[in-house]
Amino acid sequence: MDNCVSLAELLLPNIDKTPEYFENLYPARNLSEGARVTRVAPSPTGYLHLGVLFTSLVNRITATSTGGIFYTRIEDTDKKREVAGGIEDIIDGLNRFGINIDEGFISGNEQKGDYGPYQQSHRAEIYQTYVKDLIKKGLAYPCFCTAEDLEATRKIQEENKIRTGYHGEYAKHRDITYEEAKVLIEEGKQFVIRLRSPGSEEHRIAFEDTIKGKIEMPENDEDFVLLKSDGIPTYHFAHAIDDHLMHTTHVLRGDEWISSVPKHIQLFKLLGFKVPKYGHVSPIMKLDAGAKRKISKRKDPEAAVHFFAEQGYEPICVIEYLMTIAASDFEDWRRANPDADYRTFKFNLKKMSVSGALFDENKLNDVSKIKIAAMKSDEVYIRLTTWAKEFDNEFYELLTQNPDFTKGMLAIDRDDAKKPRKDIAKWNEAKEYFAYFFNNLYTPCQTLPEHINANDAKAFLTEYKKVYDANDDRQGWFDKIKAIAPSLGFAAETKEYKANPDAFKGSAGDLSTILRIAITGRTSTPDLCSIMQVLGMTECFRRIDTMIEVL
Ligand code: GLU
Repeated sequence: MDNCVSLAELLLPNIDKTPEYFENLYPARNLSEGARVTRVAPSPTGYLHLGVLFTSLVNRITATSTGGIFYTRIEDTDKKREVAGGIEDIIDGLNRFGINIDEGFISGNEQKGDYGPYQQSHRAEIYQTYVKDLIKKGLAYPCFCTAEDLEATRKIQEENKIRTGYHGEYAKHRDITYEEAKVLIEEGKQFVIRLRSPGSEEHRIAFEDTIKGKIEMPENDEDFVLLKSDGIPTYHFAHAIDDHLMHTTHVLRGDEWISSVPKHIQLFKLLGFKVPKYGHVSPIMKLDAGAKRKISKRKDPEAAVHFFAEQGYEPICVIEYLMTIAASDFEDWRRANPDADYRTFKFNLKKMSVSGALFDENKLNDVSKIKIAAMKSDEVYIRLTTWAKEFDNEFYELLTQNPDFTKGMLAIDRDDAKKPRKDIAKWNEAKEYFAYFFNNLYTPCQTLPEHINANDAKAFLTEYKKVYDANDDRQGWFDKIKAIAPSLGFAAETKEYKANPDAFKGSAGDLSTILRIAITGRTSTPDLCSIMQVLGMTECFRRIDTMIEVL
């Protein structure tokens, strides 16, 4: 034991605090029974990834539905992989998607809460204090092996068909004495601190994963690294210390960490900490040439959350879609509660998919169309112009040069409609969709359907101009088309035409198609009567005249 205490002093002479100091500094949280404390702990190594957004949502909603706390912690122990602006990008992204952060980093440079600092690179003293204590107790020790030493051991293990790693008789410095360590340190040798694992491969441990159910694995027998040679902890050690001191009740993280759980449980126990509940979230998958694979940061544009912003997906639409992936019962709930805030959904981790769910862009678009269809024109105006201002300035200028005109356009088949059209999933579709409202965007297309003759079309348009009244409602508008039909040999009623197609050139519906083509260049659009009212009589007549000329 003396050996251990002297070793601890030798290795970490500057650490003068004890674990008790931090235990007192970060007392238990005052939360009601059952409240869950969750967190997302991203590494600022790049942009906000769809997987991190998804895991954050799962953590957020778990905390919300139990009256708990959701916090952020920045895991920046790997300085080599860090990118400038990484923290900001992630936190701003979470905020933009409405993932409210109760504690931790709430913006790129602002932290809030009593359990900080919430950035691992600022917690070195805390980690070293606990490591020192483990060394004193004989539960950790310095290892002076170089990369070459470890490589040589690995080769021997491979040759002898032994599991590779720093364990058992291959744990070279496991029983190093104070004197031996002192000599090596005086020689200027670098060292890491390793756990003295009491585990054995023969034993198995079982734990209940809150998402995947019961999992059993061999106990950890590896003397894995706790503190690297620069005094910075490994993920494993930082996870145990931080989640203990920050009183996380549920560690919900990517399932690439499942295989590390034996190490983590062992660490919590050796440190005398209560083991948190674990839940491992399956990654979002993608179909690639018929095979399912994880969405990849390198290959898939949709891996970056920026992709959704650029395309003009509303954050809430992406979140609603992710909720359908997160909870198999969300869609039924949504149908039963079309207007409810998704945060009021009773989320249950057990209902999560245990194999990775497929990212389905069509589904996202459907979810999104429903959401956007439910918005009134004033809201669409704000959201569309906000998007355009950032991503399509030409369109922004057009949309805002006459806001009343634009709002009129956006109100069609929306504000007063019993069933608003579900046609726009993301704002980058709007320019093409509304092109004919803007002369700068609109290239007339005057090709008639094959069965309509140019002279009939011309005659109809000429007659129609005489009777058009912008004050007519939809019915009045169509009645006027029907009234012209017989004089040109078209049936006023579709029924009539269908009963006796040889007797007519077509029906009033065909005549309205001629008008639609003249006004919009398309054969299918939202309500044409409203489109004409928004465009105004002068513009409509100009377009009709152009068509008459061309025919
Ligand atoms: N920094 C880890 C990661 O990005 C966090 C894992 C965890 O949530 O504990 O994968």
